[in-house]
Amino acid sequence: MKTVSDYFGSLVFDDRVMKAKLPSKVYASLKKTIDEGERLDTEVANAVADAMKDWAVEHGATHFTHWFQPLTGITAEKHDSFISPSPDGGVIMEFSGKELIKGEPDASSFPSGGLRATFEARGYTAWDPTSYAFIKDKTLCIPTAFCSYGGEALDKKTPLLRSMQALNKQAMRILRLFGNTDVRCVRTSVGPEQEYFLVDKGMYDKRPDLVFCGRTLFGAKPPKGQELDDHYFGVIKPRVAAFMADLNEELWKLGILAKTEHNEVAPAQHELAPIYTTTNVACDHNQLTMEIMQKVASRHGLVCLLHEKPFAGVNGSGKHNNWSMATDTGVNLLTPGETPYENAQFLLFLAAVLQAVDDYQDLLRLSVATAGNDHRLGANEAPPAVISIFLGEELTAVLDAIENDTPYSAAEKTVMRLGVHVLPRFTRDTTDRNRTSPFAFTGNKFEFRMLGSSNSIACANIMLNAAVAESLRQYADVLEGAADFTGALHDLIKKVIHDHRRIIFNGNGYDDRWIREATEVRGLSNLRTTPDALPTILEKKNTEMLTSLKIFSEAEIRSRYEITLENYCKTVNIEGMTMVDMVRKQILPAVCAYVKAVADGCAAKTAAVPGLGCRYERGLIEKLSLLADGIDRAAEGLEATLLAYRGISDVTEASCFIRDKMLQKMAELRVVCDEAETLTAKEYWPFPTYSDLLFGVR
Ligand code: ADP
Ligand code: MG
Repeated sequence: MKTVSDYFGSLVFDDRVMKAKLPSKVYASLKKTIDEGERLDTEVANAVADAMKDWAVEHGATHFTHWFQPLTGITAEKHDSFISPSPDGGVIMEFSGKELIKGEPDASSFPSGGLRATFEARGYTAWDPTSYAFIKDKTLCIPTAFCSYGGEALDKKTPLLRSMQALNKQAMRILRLFGNTDVRCVRTSVGPEQEYFLVDKGMYDKRPDLVFCGRTLFGAKPPKGQELDDHYFGVIKPRVAAFMADLNEELWKLGILAKTEHNEVAPAQHELAPIYTTTNVACDHNQLTMEIMQKVASRHGLVCLLHEKPFAGVNGSGKHNNWSMATDTGVNLLTPGETPYENAQFLLFLAAVLQAVDDYQDLLRLSVATAGNDHRLGANEAPPAVISIFLGEELTAVLDAIENDTPYSAAEKTVMRLGVHVLPRFTRDTTDRNRTSPFAFTGNKFEFRMLGSSNSIACANIMLNAAVAESLRQYADVLEGAADFTGALHDLIKKVIHDHRRIIFNGNGYDDRWIREATEVRGLSNLRTTPDALPTILEKKNTEMLTSLKIFSEAEIRSRYEITLENYCKTVNIEGMTMVDMVRKQILPAVCAYVKAVADGCAAKTAAVPGLGCRYERGLIEKLSLLADGIDRAAEGLEATLLAYRGISDVTEASCFIRDKMLQKMAELRVVCDEAETLTAKEYWPFPTYSDLLFGVR
């Protein structure tokens, strides 16, 4: 039998393959490019391309593609075959260094937010050699960045790589100050935990809302939901287990370190967590994971729902972004150490994160803002829309001691001076867990928990890396000029704790009292919806930070603002139209048919036994008829807002109209329809119900 280690990474052109297939000189220069970002010369590129092609063809590939992540949020690929005609009428398989390094897809149909005029349809894809090429569907996929003719980023990978570079540069300045001379670079790593739902494909196909919107727009609450907590970590059902086994195999072949899987809180909800890796690779892998989950599900007669809120009344799905910074020498900069200097260094990096999250709460919030995620954040199942940091009591006490120049504990007699006294050793605290914090310190990493399940992790990590790089930049500026490094370091950390301690909150993030305290006493921002959050990206403090660190140009920021809001508007508009369609073509006809059947039955009864009262039937007919009128009226109300929406051309205005008017009309329509569902006989209801969907996979 083949074991996992036999086939792990078998579809990846990874270091093992490179070493085996490339001439040693070529391998050495490629390694330099991967590790140190050196430019590849044409000869080397040609040799790499040739080896890649031979390897891919051996593994059954016929095509290649530059695989990229446009601002649609999913991945894109345009396939070209390797074939080239030979004079004898046959073909040879060819792939050049030029084709490896650069592609020119027609980019006119990808969102650009005005960055690319339609007459300049050309876009460029450029190879990201730090993420290995792989084979998917007989196609050699080359991870690439995607930009416009003018060099503006049209994708999520380019700014992500820029943010990693910015953080690397600033973190290196700090490490040098601490006397670290062996470190060559600092990288951020991410382990994204992915939540999802599985539903039966036959049922899914009968629900236009799931097909068009990825979430149910109607559905009465089933008698049983998640209240018994009997699904969480429960026994995995055979069909789901078969799906997971198949999924793991596919992911492992692609070198994706799928590690943990379990049932989640809601019925039909599950989670997959990989082992963490370098951020841009983690991002590529997460995109692939989401794609392959859907593909494998369909092989098992299932559909994988990645929407943040597929069902009302049970938990939605998120993605926990476990984030850390580490040196190429293997030191995790967020590990509380034992020696004084290491401790001070840890505290400075910790301070950088505190300040970053406090200063750029709005950027972090908007990095996860989508129409889908708006249903989760602040809804008592996911972190609130207010951002705060959970540090745990021990670490908070240490910070208190530093801020107040007081002893850390009763046992400690002297006031702690950083760089002089050894800090207590931290043990990873498993009892001190807080599941309600949007941004929790978990021993040696931070877990950013606000991401939606369908979000690319790129956006959140771009903002996080950028904000931390900015704190580090400020610290390096101060410390590099200091005559007394230790003194300056102490004062700096103390000041950062003092200035930013409002962002630390170790209590229950779901409590309404916290939201009041956060907003009214601490002055933290509470950006509840996408239209509330997005405009803050245009604020001067934010654009200045992002442009000065060269994460985005002003034009790129503006374009992303527009694309994200446009996406929000389009998403909700499609939902509104789907609702009207389902009501007019399915729900109202079903209710009427059932009313007629009841009326016919009533007539037959009284014909058989004249004088029968038919109290039950009359009552039901009346209730359903009134509800049908109510449904019709509510549908008219939604139709009117859909029409009004079409008349608004400004995207900011349109998004506010949706937030303030359209969502309300959708909610009103849903209420009456869900009530009608509870009164209509099952065989008349036109699509599978919540009970069917949530408990239908066994
Ligand atoms: P849990 O959250 O269930 O306690 P873990 O803390 O072990 O589980 O890990 C959750 C995720 O965090 C996994 O994807 C794991 O690989 C990732 N992770 C663990 N350590 C780090 C780290 N230093 N940096 C980034 N991610 C990490
Ligand atoms: Mg977790």
